[in-house]
Amino acid sequence: MKIGILSRNAKLFSTKRLVESAKNAGHEVKVIDALHCYMNITSHRPMIHYKGETLEGFDAVIPRIGASITFYGTAVLRQFEMMGVYPLNESVAITRSRDKLRSLQLLSRKGIGLPVTGFAHSPDNIQDVIEIVGGAPLVIKLLEGTQGIGVVLAETKKAAESVIEAFMGLKANIMIQEFVKEAGGADIRCFVIGDKVIAAMMRTAKEGEFRSNLHRGGTAELIKLTPEERSTAVRAANIMGLNVAGVDILRSNHGPVVMEVNSSPGLHGIEDATGKDIAGLIIKFIEKNAKPNKTGTRGKG
Ligand code: ADP
Repeated sequence: MKIGILSRNAKLFSTKRLVESAKNAGHEVKVIDALHCYMNITSHRPMIHYKGETLEGFDAVIPRIGASITFYGTAVLRQFEMMGVYPLNESVAITRSRDKLRSLQLLSRKGIGLPVTGFAHSPDNIQDVIEIVGGAPLVIKLLEGTQGIGVVLAETKKAAESVIEAFMGLKANIMIQEFVKEAGGADIRCFVIGDKVIAAMMRTAKEGEFRSNLHRGGTAELIKLTPEERSTAVRAANIMGLNVAGVDILRSNHGPVVMEVNSSPGLHGIEDATGKDIAGLIIKFIEKNAKPNKTGTRGKG
């Protein structure tokens, strides 16, 4: 097969691993920087131009679109879909998962366990929304944040009010969430491919920190999931419409709660922690599922 990887940098760990695995399986592979793609979107024959050539003959494309280029990156992916190329994750599913409120609303509608979460726009409603999510301590999150940046733990109601007021003053979009204290500064990353969790790790925050992101000094270890956690992760990925997803779960005393569903989960931490060849499993999934014109985007507009 001819596989394209939409990634800004061929040297990134996940990109390198995918290239390596695709080549080992005998495929032709090209890393494409979405920001260097350009196209005539009104042409009857959809095409993508790239550094003076046209991108043609691809059977599948693996999107590794960073949060900061979601808009342009998904537009390029959509163009591949218009050309009938099989996307590992569809552009609509990626866009959906990048909107944290929309994601939680969709998951909630399908009965997935979530931390109690509220959001508000006007400072007049701060008191009320704090009440709704059960009062302090609580977690305040910037909707645009990634890697734990913009996630704040407010221990008291006063602290919560000031932080929320400050964020609102800056016109930032935020959500306000129950603090799942019993998770003990640990979360679980479930790596879903198709309808299976193929690897899972527990990430534990460093001393004195409640955010377990590896970028924030957290450590990762192999973990055994409960059947409920497995099915929650698979259902969450499914509801978002993602074939490949990193589903982050907290162990709360009301069962597993989903914090986030990530559409471009990194391979480094999880391959290290579990010793599994996840890149290889992704390529196998593509071999099994890639067919021309399979995406829902084509023809639907
Ligand atoms: P990001 O998407 O920026 O990584 P997250 O929402 O995943 O932000 O939060 C970062 C970390 O903070 C999580 O991995 C988790 O360890 C911790 N955390 C987030 N929300 C909660 C919560 N409601 N209760 C307890 N810990 C939380």
